[in-house]
Amino acid sequence: MARCDSGYFCETCGLYVESVIESELYLRYVMGEIPTEGLLTLPDRHIRCNAALAQYIVHEDFPPIVEDRPEHDKRRLDPAWVRDREDLVTRAWVRLRSLPASGLDVRDYPLPDVKPPDAAAFFAAPAEALPAKTPDPEGRIFF
Ligand SMILES: [Zn+2]
Repeated sequence: MARCDSGYFCETCGLYVESVIESELYLRYVMGEIPTEGLLTLPDRHIRCNAALAQYIVHEDFPPIVEDRPEHDKRRLDPAWVRDREDLVTRAWVRLRSLPASGLDVRDYPLPDVKPPDAAAFFAAPAEALPAKTPDPEGRIFF
C-alpha cells in the first residue's frame, strides 16, 4: 500500500501490493515491529511472498506456507518461541483483515498489546532490518 492509494510493488514477485490486507509492511506494523513512519519509507511485499513471516499465520482462512530455508524454517526453531510467534503473527493477521472496514486511524492499527518502536531508534538499527530497496527496470526506486 502507498500513501497515494496506488500500491507498492512487491519486493519479491514484482506485482503490486494492492491492499492493506495482503501487505507484509502493514502486517509487521500491526505486530508492532515497525514505526508508523516506516509505512511511508520501507519496501513492501505480499504477505504470501515472505514465507519466513507468513509461515507463522495459523488460521483456517490462510492456506499454510512452508519456509524451506533452514535458518528460517519454524519446524527447526524452538517450539515455545514458535508458539509465541504464531500467536502474535496470527492475531496481527486477523486484525489486519478487519482494518479496512474498521474506520480506525492508521495510528491505531497496531495490536493493543504492542507498541511500535521509536522511529529514530528503528531507523538507526543495523541494515539487515531494512531490506534493500530495488530499482525497477527503468531505474526508479520503489519503496
Ligand atoms: Zn509478491
